[in-house]
Parts: sequence; C-alpha cells; structure tokens
Amino acid sequence: MKRRTLFKFGAIGGLLGISQPAKASEFFVNSVKPSISGPIVLSTWSHGIEANKGAWEVLSEGGNALDAVEKAARVTESDRTNRSVGISGRPDRDGHVTLDACIMNHQSKCGSVGFVEGYEHPISIARSVMENTQHVMLVGEGAEDYAKWMGFKKIKSPIEEVKKDYKQWRKENKSLFEKPQINHENHDTIGIIAMDENGNLSGACTTSGWAYKLHGRLGDSPIIGAGLFVDNEVGAAVATGLGEAIIRIAGSHTVVELMRNGMSPEEACKTAVDRIIAKHDDLTGLQCGFLALNKHGEYGGYSVYNGFNFALKTNDFEGMKDAPFNRKW
Ligand code: ASP
Repeated sequence: MKRRTLFKFGAIGGLLGISQPAKASEFFVNSVKPSISGPIVLSTWSHGIEANKGAWEVLSEGGNALDAVEKAARVTESDRTNRSVGISGRPDRDGHVTLDACIMNHQSKCGSVGFVEGYEHPISIARSVMENTQHVMLVGEGAEDYAKWMGFKKIKSPIEEVKKDYKQWRKENKSLFEKPQINHENHDTIGIIAMDENGNLSGACTTSGWAYKLHGRLGDSPIIGAGLFVDNEVGAAVATGLGEAIIRIAGSHTVVELMRNGMSPEEACKTAVDRIIAKHDDLTGLQCGFLALNKHGEYGGYSVYNGFNFALKTNDFEGMKDAPFNRKW
C-alpha cells in the first residue's frame, strides 16, 4: 500500500474507531532514499538558474546540501543587476537597503539575520549565527556588530544605482504611506531547497524584502517556519511574495506539516496558498508562492497569482518550471 493511501486509511479508520492513524515519522525516516537519481536543487524565480549552477558545483561533487544552498544564495546576493536580493536590492522608504536571510540544515539547526545593512552575504552571516552562537536569530545593529566581529567585510550601502532609483521613487511617491504593491518589479526573494546524494535536505532564503517597506520592517524571509522550513524526515519548503501574509499562516512550516500528513509537495503548497486566500478579503497585489521538496525527491510549487516560476536542476534536467496558481493577475 502506498504511503499516502496508508495515511488516508489511517485517518478514516481513526474516525470510525477502527484503528489509530499511523505516526508520520514511521513512514518518513532518515534512511528513506530519494526516488530521483542523485541530488536535486530548486530555487525560486529565474535568478534561480544561476543560483542552481552554484549549488550544483557542490552537489555534483558529492558535497552536502547545506554548502550547496549557501553557495546558491551567495551567487544571487553578489549579482549587482538583481533588484530584490543583496545590496543592489530596492531600499526601504527611508532609502536604506535592509537585508534578511536564513538557513536551515538536515539536523533542524538554523540561523537567521534580519534588518542588516552593508553586508554582501547575509546568508553566510546567518550560517555563522547557526554554527557559532547559541542563538537562531540576530537583527539590526547587533547582527551587524556580530558580522564585523566575525570578520565579514562591511561594504558601502546603498550603492549608486540604488540611490538613483530611490531619488526617482521619492519624486513619484509623495506620500510615504501610500500602499506599496507586491509586483514583478518590487519583490522576488531567492529561496533554495536542496537534497544531496545522501538524501539530506537543507534550505536557504535571502532578500532585500518588500521594496519601499517601512524602515524596520522584517518580512517572512528571515523567519524560520515562515520563509523557510526543513524537516529532514519529511521535506523542505520556501516562500516568496508578500511576507506579512506568509507569516500569518507560518507558511513554510505549514507546507512541510501538510507533506508530513501525506500531501504531495504541490498539494501542500496549494493548501497553504488556499489558506492565505481564505484569510484575506482583499487579494489585490497579494502574490505569494511556495516551493517544496519531499524526502523522495518529489517537488512542486503553487502561487496565488500566475507568474511564479522556479528553477530546477537534477542530473537529468536544468531549466525553469511554471508553478500552477489560483488566479490570474
Ligand atoms: N517575501 C519577501 C518579503 O516579504 C519578499 C519577496 O519574496 O518578494 O520580504
């Protein structure tokens, strides 16, 4: 009997008082080998293609998923043409480019930084928080002091191109409290989830966040359980889009728990998106997307609106996939 059938039977049997549903962990154990051959990496949006190439340098050499997702995130963070990740990302309403990132490995260890300015690789600071402190999350000045102390080099921020764009935005947006919209120009976090050849999962997420956000705002991307979640017994998920909506349903954790209860990655992403939709009266501009990978190497994504895509790399495939969606813009 297939695992999902077992879950369904267990749940119905439990309701009828015939039998107890089996515990998910009985079916998802660390020894489960992926059904695809070899490693797999998935990254949100088209910048994921280059990011995946970075990850693949690690994975194809038998490296681990944690090193792979960090390397992938660093590729996008260093891309000065990118306007949604790293120090060339769009600024907040006060002209500051504030960066959020988090990382999680197969042992459920995780690290995160938020509201960090002037560091090229927030993802590596997040990894350092995970590996060298007793904490999970550092933000703002404290995170920057920590980074400096650990030897990360501070760089000048905002860079000239960002300053120019900001001046223009200020001219066009007189009211600082005008509601910014999430659309193709002002968002696009990179979220990466990967499984290595040993079947271990890790994930990373890094962003400059919602463009022209209020100074001090943190989105979902540095929050473990919202922007990213990994449980090596089950799978991994990352989110992109309007962080406030994703936080409200603990999005990535929700996706992983739905997979634990027997859903496929795509079904789990869809169910999380449906939950977001159900909790909002006004869906104008509310784009959110999830990407998920389970322990068997099955993957999927789903978004509120059309347009969300992701990059996939395996031994047999390299390219973009369009995620299914609930509605059209
Ligand atoms: N989730 C990010 C945030 O809310 C933005 C994005 O993914 O586009 O900060």
